[in-house]
Amino acid sequence: MQAVRPDAGLGANGAVNGDVLELEKPDHYVDASAESAWETALAQLDEVAELMGLAPGVHELLRSPKRALIVSVPFRMDDGSTSVHQGYRVHHNVTRGPAKGGIRYHPSVDLDEVKALAMWMTWKCAVAGIPFGGAKGGIAVDRRKLKKGELERMTRRYASEILPLIGPERDIPAPDMNTDEEIMAWIMDTYSAYQGHSVPGVVTGKPVSIGGSKGRGGATSRGVMYMIFSQLKALGLGIEEVTVAIQGYGKVGGFAAQLLHDAGCQVVAISDVEGALYNANGLDPEAINRHKHEAGTVVGYAGAEAMSNAELLEIDCDVLVPAAVEGVITVKNADAIKARFVCEAANGPVTFEADKILGERGISVVPDVLANAGGVVVSYFEWVQDIQAYFWSAEEVNDRLRGILENAYLEVRDLAGAKGLTMRQAAQWIGVGRVAEAHLTRGLFP
Ligand code: NAD
Repeated sequence: MQAVRPDAGLGANGAVNGDVLELEKPDHYVDASAESAWETALAQLDEVAELMGLAPGVHELLRSPKRALIVSVPFRMDDGSTSVHQGYRVHHNVTRGPAKGGIRYHPSVDLDEVKALAMWMTWKCAVAGIPFGGAKGGIAVDRRKLKKGELERMTRRYASEILPLIGPERDIPAPDMNTDEEIMAWIMDTYSAYQGHSVPGVVTGKPVSIGGSKGRGGATSRGVMYMIFSQLKALGLGIEEVTVAIQGYGKVGGFAAQLLHDAGCQVVAISDVEGALYNANGLDPEAINRHKHEAGTVVGYAGAEAMSNAELLEIDCDVLVPAAVEGVITVKNADAIKARFVCEAANGPVTFEADKILGERGISVVPDVLANAGGVVVSYFEWVQDIQAYFWSAEEVNDRLRGILENAYLEVRDLAGAKGLTMRQAAQWIGVGRVAEAHLTRGLFP
């Protein structure tokens, strides 16, 4: 489905008051020749469908999103000109409940990427056992080039364009790459203005002052930590004896570094899009945070050696945590990974083919649909609290999060052991199986 709304102020060539508009071209940070996220997501589904003997009709149905909306997002720049960017919102599946998934602002956002991310959300919610389907959205834009007012106007216009799809009973967006609680507050406010009353349950990951949940900000990172601990326990390794490398120092990677450091792990490498830092004796996240606050990047921090993002992935460490973008571990570097295991804090960081190479080399992968599910689990808690207008303590949130994730980990681990599967295959089996069961139980309309 495509709904590019003609805007009253735009001429035939996108000209406004004589200015010629240029749509921003995606600036691909990721190797464009590598397997795409959508190819990875489909290959994973096809593989598990065969392994589990999934009914062909259900398999075919799950290979496509339920609906996809492409929108044009025009907004006024501070200098008076108009900028137009492409936006998306995709519902992969809503059979187990309302669609749930983040909103990403990144130059490489396109329909296929959003479809892949929405599909992974479906499996993630099912693996965690929370009553949501999978969605994702985004705008192909470089957030760093926008001033605050421009960011707000773009966000509000995007929210109004995807209005037909979102709502507490239909689809509940949340933060993802380059979006945050302030952006969620603008979306909640825009949606509420259209409804004529406050609707806090339309988004999660919003500030606590307007119905956000305690513990949501750090939930994905906390979940990553719990999953690393579970995997360490399964491998017979102690928390304080392992070294960790983390790619991506944003909401997920940055706080995961802090939590793991505080728990006693030695965080030896971290990075952001500008470059990586390495110190064999361990890094101090608090000092790095102070440097990042000043410099806007981790690069240039004095207490470490500089290295590239590609080098970070290949260092000698126990736990490798990709927490940035998809498709960073591919056939080109899978042979060079030295970690004992990979914990996928990002969505889709390991391609399908690379996953096979890691498996052959005995490097296990805690898959994204389990490893980074902490965010959506606490988003579920936030939605429940909003609907009930009854709020929980941080301890209740964190304890329930830990219980759900540790239980999901054991279910995945047990199935993998019983059927001789990788953890990814087992997680996909459980996720796809629960969605398939819901389809078969509800039946096919009409
Ligand atoms: P963020 O925007 O807060 O941080 C992203 C980080 O990655 C930044 O440090 C950025 O500089 C870095 N980065 C971007 N491109 C990079 C590249 N090509 N190479 C190396 N580093 C790069 O985003 P986030 O919310 O932390 O999300 C990170 C990943 O985690 C994404 O894959 C996202 O889908 C996934 N995720 C996020 C959440 C959440 O709650 N925010 C939940 C589940 C999964």
